[in-house]
Amino acid sequence: MTFSLLHPRDQIVAIMARIYGHGMTTTSGGNISIRDENGDVWITPARVDKGNLRQQDIVRISPDGSLEGNHPPSSEYPFHLSIYKARPDIDAIIHAHPCALVSFSICGQVPNTRIFPEAWNVCGKPGLAPYALPGSQKLGENIAAEFAAPDEPYCVILENHGVVVGAKDLTVAYQRLESLEFAAETIINACILGKVHYLDDEQIALSSQPRNILPEHQPEPATVRERELRKAICDFVHRSHAHRLMTSTKGSFSARIDSDSFLITPYNVDRRDLDLADLVVVRNGTRAAGQTPSRAVGLHRAIYEAHPEIHAIVNALPVHAAAFCASESPFDTRTIPESYLFLKDVSTIPFDQQYADLQTISSFIGPKNPVALLENNGVLVASRSVLDAFDRLEVLEATAAAILRSRSLGAVTPMSDAVIQELTEAFPSM
Ligand SMILES: [Zn+2]
Repeated sequence: MTFSLLHPRDQIVAIMARIYGHGMTTTSGGNISIRDENGDVWITPARVDKGNLRQQDIVRISPDGSLEGNHPPSSEYPFHLSIYKARPDIDAIIHAHPCALVSFSICGQVPNTRIFPEAWNVCGKPGLAPYALPGSQKLGENIAAEFAAPDEPYCVILENHGVVVGAKDLTVAYQRLESLEFAAETIINACILGKVHYLDDEQIALSSQPRNILPEHQPEPATVRERELRKAICDFVHRSHAHRLMTSTKGSFSARIDSDSFLITPYNVDRRDLDLADLVVVRNGTRAAGQTPSRAVGLHRAIYEAHPEIHAIVNALPVHAAAFCASESPFDTRTIPESYLFLKDVSTIPFDQQYADLQTISSFIGPKNPVALLENNGVLVASRSVLDAFDRLEVLEATAAAILRSRSLGAVTPMSDAVIQELTEAFPSM
């Protein structure tokens, strides 16, 4: 479905369902608007269940201020209009109170989006608007002033209130909200572990270089194996997004077709909407004509070439495990038998090295050490099948969540060397 061809009413209903389904608003909180080419603003209504919003609930505000709809507009509509006035480049706005961003809001802080290249690229540097009464003209002025600041932010934290994000269209506004909330959650988790590190200008520039422009080949009809892998990758990418192991904008999955070729997720396609035809065949370093693979393509290729036993690779951004990527705290997997057997000893690949020599990186990961943390860049998992890779990713995230939660209980007692030896002897094939 081409989202941009939907009527603003339908776009708003779809995105509100997505925000509510993702736990980023309550039934009463949050509002969304779109400005169309006529200058009309379509906005969510006041006092209607956000978990059950319908197309006919959306209100239209004309440029002359007249209203059309079955309900009054959101009481916070004045600040939507103020932002549209201040920023001609913004035609879609989302306001919500997602938990991690509210944590920043009530401490008068903004999340540093330089925690991951993706968060910086999607969100930029957020602003902070001073508190004013909800629905008041003053709040509208405070928020519009922040959006009109010289660096023209697209995300603004509202002091003791929540967050507002703007974009040219509602899809990008949603991606900003999701990515900013994810960054906020990761920073909060990483702070539990200790000092948090962020990317500098040079590292941001390094990560922005295109790495997925390969020569093209003319694709051949898909084999039975290729078709089986396409369905498996799509299913697990959808599940990864639903389980918050990937965001809409970050996460790559690939699977080996044969000794010379593999399938990989495309560049810049919303992970929730990934379709069978979106996956890109990469053969001997060339890409299927007309398609752009994920920017992780070179890394995945180097790993497949170095390790014939590896048949599936995932780059992901699970919210708890990602906290370890931005912290100096070691990730000790000797927690429970399942964790150690699935994850083995996990090392961290320094940020600059991730972009330096792909052959060296492939030595960090393989059948004996199938998981690595990418400093300020998420996690990397390799395995013998698509199912196995996803399973390992889930175990990784569950292990990280357990360690983080244990911090308020006391010191973790890691399994002893003798216990680890007994385990690896009892389950040698894992
Ligand atoms: Zn609000």
